Amino acid sequence: MSLLKGKTAVITGAARGIGREIAISMAKEGANIAFTDLKIDDNMISLEKELNAMGVKAKGFASDASDYAQTDEVVNEIQKEFGSVDILVNNAGITRDTLLMRMDEETWDMVIKVNLKSVFNFTKAAQKFMLKQKSGSIINMSSVVGVSGNAGQANYSASKAGIIGFTKSVAKELGSRGIRSNAIAPGFIITDMTAKLPEDVRNEWIKGIPLRRGGTPQDVANACIFLGSDLSSYVSGQVLNVCGGMNT
Ligand code: NAP
Repeated sequence: MSLLKGKTAVITGAARGIGREIAISMAKEGANIAFTDLKIDDNMISLEKELNAMGVKAKGFASDASDYAQTDEVVNEIQKEFGSVDILVNNAGITRDTLLMRMDEETWDMVIKVNLKSVFNFTKAAQKFMLKQKSGSIINMSSVVGVSGNAGQANYSASKAGIIGFTKSVAKELGSRGIRSNAIAPGFIITDMTAKLPEDVRNEWIKGIPLRRGGTPQDVANACIFLGSDLSSYVSGQVLNVCGGMNT
């Protein structure tokens, strides 16, 4: 299919995990892909090669999504090289899990900066081009714990809840200019991020999922294709749970 043909998708933190799958899946739908990650490493180089071999234009950019100036610079560069920014997927994220009683200021600040400020940075930098185009789809990676909260993840949950408020505000602010803004709230998705959890904790999570399995990066990428494409042209300001029924 070619649901995204002719569109440029910008995906943050895409060298591995969910972001990588989003990049590959969007390229399969014909999108040109500009992706970022912290550094140029084997993951970035191999993804760039894989995408280019699929016949779309693709390039990886080393950039810290939590840095305002770096973000503005990289989005300007992408616009220059690709000619448009049609889809923005704010995917970069980290966890630094610990109970509140042990959480220091640095751990709090780091998670808020990487997960939440990065969404502001990229949306702010991309909106100027989307406003000129009078179109755009912004997809922000929240989490089910941004809706429900989670013990040991006060920083992460707060950052993901903040993303939801931001997403809805942007939808209201920019809707009249043809720009849509939605969030995805993945549940328990099998990536490096969740592989860090002890096996018994992972099994406990899976037991609580109505569909009785962890999600795959592809499950999340499929939702991104829907929100990035014209199939969702009347969908904005929403949080789409991709969680196997966990958040119902
Ligand atoms: P992951 O496997 O840990 O990958 C995260 C990616 O983000 C990595 O490529 C990482 O780069 C990059 N990154 C980290 N900090 C960055 C920064 N400051 N600037 C640019 N890139 C940065 O995580 P994931 O599981 O794919 O998660 C992707 C998104 O989904 C995150 O926002 C996460 O919170 C969200 N999510 C995940 C789950 C889940 O179960 N996995 C559930 C709900 C929501 P490096 O390789 O350099 O570290």
